[in-house]
Amino acid sequence: MNKVYVAFGTNMGDKNKNIEKAIEMMKDRGLKVIKISQVYKTEPYGYTAQPEFLNGVLEAITSLDAVDVLKTLLEIEKDMGRVREFKWGPRIIDLDILFFNDDVIDEKDLKVPHPDMQNREFVLKPLCEIAPDFIHPVLKKSIKNMLLELNLKNKQKWEG
Ligand code: ADP
Ligand code: MG
Repeated sequence: MNKVYVAFGTNMGDKNKNIEKAIEMMKDRGLKVIKISQVYKTEPYGYTAQPEFLNGVLEAITSLDAVDVLKTLLEIEKDMGRVREFKWGPRIIDLDILFFNDDVIDEKDLKVPHPDMQNREFVLKPLCEIAPDFIHPVLKKSIKNMLLELNLKNKQKWEG
């Protein structure tokens, strides 16, 4: 069995419902959901002139391999009606693989651990709730420490 951490985000329509629906669909398609974080309100990232997001993460157990988990997540996004207009644009649901066991995957269409997670408070904060001591297999740091470092970095940025 494989352990996977998935990040979810939404900023269109009934956001709470979108998250519920996506989680139900993951359960129906081979992901046994073990833990779900709280849901956080987040200001848009990248392209900022769009509605705020709801973000969270979950832990699941699955017999699917990483490629099939990605396929499943992309299918759920599609079935929920996501249209890819532009990178970082508004979306009904975005589902990303954060970790897959301790695997390091560097394919064109699949990068694991998710390459930008260490810079995203909306990923690290919920992840710290459900997996504070999980060690990032490349950075060799715990989620707890990654969140502390990011907070420190942001604080220094604001204080100049
Ligand atoms: P983003 O999530 O960066 O806002 P998209 O969801 O539009 O952007 O990008 C999806 C593409 O990213 C997918 O088609 C997938 O092939 C690729 N991708 C690479 N690594 C991952 C990952 N760890 N989780 C989800 N998608 C990934
Ligand atoms: Mg995505």
